[in-house]
Amino acid sequence: MSPLAVTAYIALGANLGNARVTVLQAMQSIATLRATYCVHCSSLYSTAPIDATGPDYINAVVEVITGLNPQDLLFELQQLEQTAGRQRPYRNAPRTLDLDILLYGDACLQSTTLVIPHPRMRTRAFVLLPLAEIAPAKVSINDLQAVSDQRITRLNTD
Ligand code: ADP
Ligand code: MG
Repeated sequence: MSPLAVTAYIALGANLGNARVTVLQAMQSIATLRATYCVHCSSLYSTAPIDATGPDYINAVVEVITGLNPQDLLFELQQLEQTAGRQRPYRNAPRTLDLDILLYGDACLQSTTLVIPHPRMRTRAFVLLPLAEIAPAKVSINDLQAVSDQRITRLNTD
């Protein structure tokens, strides 16, 4: 592990095919990315689509320590999306797998391909609840209250 490793949070989402299996497999794949160690995986959550149509989503968040820089991490995650058969027919289309970088250390980045912190993470219960489960210090009560009208159920995976 590089001495410059950084703690990052990645959101996982899927609502096509066997979304539960896809998200669980993606967690395992993230844990085996080069120079990357998975520290915590949240539970799986079932959530209503936001600004979108289609089946309910399966969502989760993982915490990693990674030596990859943000662009390389994004590239690796997009490879995993491709392997899962991700297609982008239109904005917010149903998806086999979506992997978004929420936070990368304390970095604030804004390029054409990467914005960190993820710009919509504070408005989405499907990000905030699993993030709060594994990293409560990253989420405030105000954040949670602001999304309390969004339907989300933690799945029992025991
Ligand atoms: P969605 O916004 O619904 O996640 P996509 O997964 O198709 O849509 O992502 C569209 C683009 O968003 C990607 O090609 C990527 O370059 C860009 N992007 C910007 N910031 C991020 C981020 N923090 N994590 C993941 N993708 C990002
Ligand atoms: Mg995405």
